Amino acid sequence: MLLYDNFTILIVDDDKVNLNVLSRMLESEYVNFDGAVHLHSKILTARSGMEALQTVEKEIPDLILLDIVMPGADGFEVLLKLKKSESTRMIPVIVITGMDNVKYEEKAFYLGAVDYITKPFHEPLVKARVMTHMKIIQQMRMIEQLGLIDKLTGLPNRRYFDSRMTAQWHQAIRNNETVSFCMLDLDHFKNFNDTYGHQHGDVLLKIIAGVIQSSVKRPTDFIARWGGEEFAVILPGTDINNAVNIAESIRLKVENLEMRDAGTGTKIKVTLSAGVSEAVPTAESSMAEFIERADRALYSAKNSGRNKVCS
Ligand code: GH3
Ligand code: MG
Ligand code: MG
Repeated sequence: MLLYDNFTILIVDDDKVNLNVLSRMLESEYVNFDGAVHLHSKILTARSGMEALQTVEKEIPDLILLDIVMPGADGFEVLLKLKKSESTRMIPVIVITGMDNVKYEEKAFYLGAVDYITKPFHEPLVKARVMTHMKIIQQMRMIEQLGLIDKLTGLPNRRYFDSRMTAQWHQAIRNNETVSFCMLDLDHFKNFNDTYGHQHGDVLLKIIAGVIQSSVKRPTDFIARWGGEEFAVILPGTDINNAVNIAESIRLKVENLEMRDAGTGTKIKVTLSAGVSEAVPTAESSMAEFIERADRALYSAKNSGRNKVCS
């Protein structure tokens, strides 16, 4: 049995009656012949294009049903804005409109809509088409869960890191090779989020990912997003002095990032701290202890004032 659960659907229509009918219809539970069950969705509604854009800024829905003819920003304008913004361009949009016209339909698909339904609509067909897109969304989610890449930064995620680290560790044992490890953590990132908002926080994380990528050059080096605002770098064949130099160059680049508060024009202070460890592992060495040492070094960097590299 396929279960479609935990979906948030945004319905945009200037007509209150339409909005109510669609909401009630998509909120309720329904079952398909193939056994697919759609459980209660969370429904968000907007009565205008403007309101729709404001809503998606607060909460990203999984799917959008969008009317075309609305006063103010019409559906095409909304669709264009959604597709231009990094945070919303992946949301599937089903157009649902009274404009039964191939030119409009063509335009909607051209702008990136995934489906086009005309009013007056037939309830089972709307449900069926919504269900089709839920299937696709669900499959995407599964792929992401299996995935090894962090969606926000495009860097390898923690899972990928774990398998890579294990492989590197065993290779270093076989080759009697030095390996260094560096853990980086943004300083007071919570404050940054609180001051500039989570979306700007996300942008900053992408910038930091780029800075780290541009500082770590060998093909065998490996960068991962370790967690929220923490990054990890594996440096095979690199001793601690060189690893500290690399970490130091990242620290310096971040400190010198040119970012200004759009309101006041003052420079925004962004820094990070790093902890570095080195090992020439043998069969008896512990990989966990190697990682733990970098983590402890990172905590000394934090405790001795931040914006520092410790080893
Ligand atoms: P410290 O200098 O001690 O590291 O302080 P900090 O504020 O950076 O550390 P703390 O662990 O207290 O807070 C981390 C913050 O990172 C809190 C969390 O909301 C934020 N964060 C984690 N992941 C993400 C993300 O993907 N995007 C954004 N914008 N923020 C995130
Ligand atoms: Mg931090
Ligand atoms: Mg942290």
